[in-house]
Amino acid sequence: MDQWSGAEILAVWERGAAQDWPRRGLILLSAWPPAAEVADHTALTVGERDAWLFQLCGRLFGARMACTAECPACAALLQFDLDAGDFSQPPAGGDDLFEVALHERYRIRLRPLTSADLLAAGRVGGIAAMRRILLERAVCEVFVDGAAASVAALPEEIIGALGDQLAQRDGAELLLDLRCAACRHGWSQPFDILSFLWSELARYAKRLLREVHTLAWAYGWSEGDILAMSAVRRRVYLEWVQ
Ligand SMILES: [Zn+2]
Repeated sequence: MDQWSGAEILAVWERGAAQDWPRRGLILLSAWPPAAEVADHTALTVGERDAWLFQLCGRLFGARMACTAECPACAALLQFDLDAGDFSQPPAGGDDLFEVALHERYRIRLRPLTSADLLAAGRVGGIAAMRRILLERAVCEVFVDGAAASVAALPEEIIGALGDQLAQRDGAELLLDLRCAACRHGWSQPFDILSFLWSELARYAKRLLREVHTLAWAYGWSEGDILAMSAVRRRVYLEWVQ
């Protein structure tokens, strides 16, 4: 895929519009990476998925990503750029099991979360139930005071700590260090490539539909004919109409 056509972007946007976030991620992945490189998109870890989404974002909209954040101290709007290329490599060993030791009593072996896990969690209602499903799927072994135990044996405090570990694991959550130009306050903020890319796609799709509307109104052409034009040709007609 070098570039999606306007009609393809509209089709992807339409397919994902009524879906939840994990499914939107999978819909985007149906275009990139190529099927030959990844057999099962649902088995990708969140970190691996996001690396592919950064690549897709760069291919569709260019490497420079214009981002904004609000300063938590003074509410000033911060504008900054990210380079999609800086985040487009999957984390090394990102799908490996890892071990967490907590409060000297608890030793837990986990695997990073995948899209399949997120889909399973999405089928239950409520944050607590979702978190429980994710943990049950991610946790491979639990030892309490050296003896094998189940996830059910873990207290709330440990479950919360494991949730944090999973979120931070190998690129699963990208944290940006930001500093406010107005008040110099510094803070860390998560960046979600899936919601960023989806909002870029939605903005592009709506702009395209507006162009179709304008040209169809002015010339009576069909949506298919207008979308089949190159963006350059469409822009020239729009200049004459407006
Ligand atoms: Zn500030």
